[in-house]
Amino acid sequence: MKKQITLAMGNGGEENNELISKIFYKAFKNEILQKSEDAAVIHNGELAFSTDSFTVSPLFFPGGDIGKLAVCGTCNDLAMMGAAPKYLTCSVIIEEGFPTRDLEKIVHSMEQELAINGAIVVSGDTKVVPRGNVDKIFINTTGIGEIQKKGISSNNISLDDVILVSRDLGRHGATIFAAREGIELTTDLQSDCASLTVQVQALIEADVKITALRDATRGGVSAVLNEWAKQSNICIEVKEESIPVSQEVYGICEMLGFEAVNLANEGTFVLAIKKEDELKALEVLHKFENSSNAVKIAEVSEQYVGKVILLSSYGTKRFLDMPSGELLPRIC
Ligand code: MG
Repeated sequence: MKKQITLAMGNGGEENNELISKIFYKAFKNEILQKSEDAAVIHNGELAFSTDSFTVSPLFFPGGDIGKLAVCGTCNDLAMMGAAPKYLTCSVIIEEGFPTRDLEKIVHSMEQELAINGAIVVSGDTKVVPRGNVDKIFINTTGIGEIQKKGISSNNISLDDVILVSRDLGRHGATIFAAREGIELTTDLQSDCASLTVQVQALIEADVKITALRDATRGGVSAVLNEWAKQSNICIEVKEESIPVSQEVYGICEMLGFEAVNLANEGTFVLAIKKEDELKALEVLHKFENSSNAVKIAEVSEQYVGKVILLSSYGTKRFLDMPSGELLPRIC
């Protein structure tokens, strides 16, 4: 481990995982934590429990703001365990001088997003710190959800599964980057920031055989697939040409030398579904506007256990590694 904390250690990728395992897992070690799921499954498998802090800059961006993000982020992690979000806490750290109007806007966004999820805030905390001690506002939310479908786990993916994504990739990362760098967009690129509870509920109601779900936030789809390959001891073979990326996001990636699979999303999830239910799952997802381009991107094999392979349309193969380095700090 390095002597000091670096920005890369918050990237949702390799350095971040090293920080978590060498410092936090080492100290807090327990069976629930070590499952490394999107949310902890507690209380005899009946409840999902998760927490997340939000530091995004800028606070307001096309497609959302820090308030919407703070509710979506935690509710989506609960939804990824097959849970219906119920109770949230909301904790804010505000910089002295922050405009009250902006705070009202942010809290209003939270209110709207809570309604979409059918969840309520039941506890909270506010701290105000002197000017310069925090950048504008940081928010933490913690949530509890009732598990509607037990047994969803990123540790159980097998050769019987196929891997789907719910929509085109990289919108949140590309939007934040463009907003921060003042890149003038001639397109209407927006963050994908959205609650996923409704889609997950629909998949459960249709009785789709779900093995695992994960929202592709920091580290993007690359991080999710690499985590899954390791946790389930499988090889994931991704068909490069099947990865959905919009023209706008592709343009920004070209400009910056990023890959869309590494960019953060805030309303996009990866699904491991039993093979026979692939079409059923896609049919359910296609009914929703923000998953109308859901598609299968990968198969599971035993070729290189613990690894993700990218198959190009020319027939070449390369490993898709866990993202590393300073990606985009303060993306969420
Ligand atoms: Mg997550």
